[in-house]
Amino acid sequence: MGRSGGVVIERETVQVDIGGVKVGGGEPVVVQSMTNTDTADPAATAAQIKALADAGSELVRITVNTREAAAAVPEVMERLDDSGCSVPVVGDFHYNGHILLAEYPAAAGRLAKYRINPGNVGTSRRDENFQAIVRIAMENGKAVRIGVNWGSLDQRLLTELMDANARSSTPKESGAVVRDAMVESAVRSAELAQETGLAENRIVLSAKVSGVRELVAVYEQLAPLTRYPLHLGLTEAGMGTKGIVATVAGLSPLLLKGIGDTIRVSLTPRPGGDRAEEVRVAQQILQSLELRSFEPQVTSCPGCGRTTSTFFQEMTEDIQGYIREQMPFWREAFPGVEEMKVAVMGCVVNGPGESKHANLGISLPGTFEEPKAPVYVDGQHLKTLKGDHIVDEFKTILDEYVARTYGSSVKAHEPAETAAG
Ligand code: SF4
Repeated sequence: MGRSGGVVIERETVQVDIGGVKVGGGEPVVVQSMTNTDTADPAATAAQIKALADAGSELVRITVNTREAAAAVPEVMERLDDSGCSVPVVGDFHYNGHILLAEYPAAAGRLAKYRINPGNVGTSRRDENFQAIVRIAMENGKAVRIGVNWGSLDQRLLTELMDANARSSTPKESGAVVRDAMVESAVRSAELAQETGLAENRIVLSAKVSGVRELVAVYEQLAPLTRYPLHLGLTEAGMGTKGIVATVAGLSPLLLKGIGDTIRVSLTPRPGGDRAEEVRVAQQILQSLELRSFEPQVTSCPGCGRTTSTFFQEMTEDIQGYIREQMPFWREAFPGVEEMKVAVMGCVVNGPGESKHANLGISLPGTFEEPKAPVYVDGQHLKTLKGDHIVDEFKTILDEYVARTYGSSVKAHEPAETAAG
């Protein structure tokens, strides 16, 4: 899948196979997520993994933090098998990964990848513990993600770099030294993994921070130094709008430069909230950047004083909901439909223009306009709808367009560049 939108600098990487999902090497950016259930509860964990996979997560990570959690991994996987869910499951290890993976070989065998945080594999036996995990990955033919996080940065390495900086005649500010330590930790750990015998195409790197500018800076520093695929994410992004906006702000500049091969959106869910929101946000980031397509996009204007009734908002929501409802069927029956663009506009000021740039567009009558709604299909005026059944009639046109355009090998032409709304 091509990358577009601004200046694109393709970053070449090796390709890592994670349970059949290919990351890097020119593959489309992979969406992943993480459960928040207790892994020792296999029923709840398997159910949430399946829900995340059903929402579109292509890899799902679970924490493996205790003996009970490690012991539960095979049952989690059996439950997924029974439910027909084949998403690769990644184990997240901190502090005791070398012990758990050695003591629970069935868990080591069923997980598709192990995440190692080089900042917390031990102090005096850091390299030894790290290498123990790497050897288990080699024996099981698994990949690892070396995931550095500034909240748990290797303190020995940080002290080493801080001391060297203090002796320098041109010392850097401390933030830059922390960045250096993160990059150095990721790169040195990957080198140690390869020296231990792990193949280059079994390694993914990440260096997560919780600040947007820091995230961009650290990945821009790391990316040119290695050929490993990079896992991108703003760690501890937060809740709701803040978490989403900060994640978009941090990931977008990197993705537009071709930096990032798999992404995770680390949102804090509301109590009882839907964990799968992080998957939908990740997909929307990739689709908005035109890196991947997951579902048809509805372009709608914000509305203004020219749309004093709520009809326009209701119609937009109705069309969006209708498309979402149809997608499980459309995806199977009409491949390519996820690239369709639909415009629902509030009046004739920008309506017809925006409609012409979409595959299918309708512009509703504004407050003082004649009660009619012109419909455009692939840039051409098809008909003008009037009366009380505009929404249903537009859905019929939509259904016919989808069946006609994506039901055969003949594809709709690409809409032109979207005009500013
Ligand atoms: S298209 Fe019309 S209704 Fe929508 S924001 Fe513009 S002027 Fe307002």
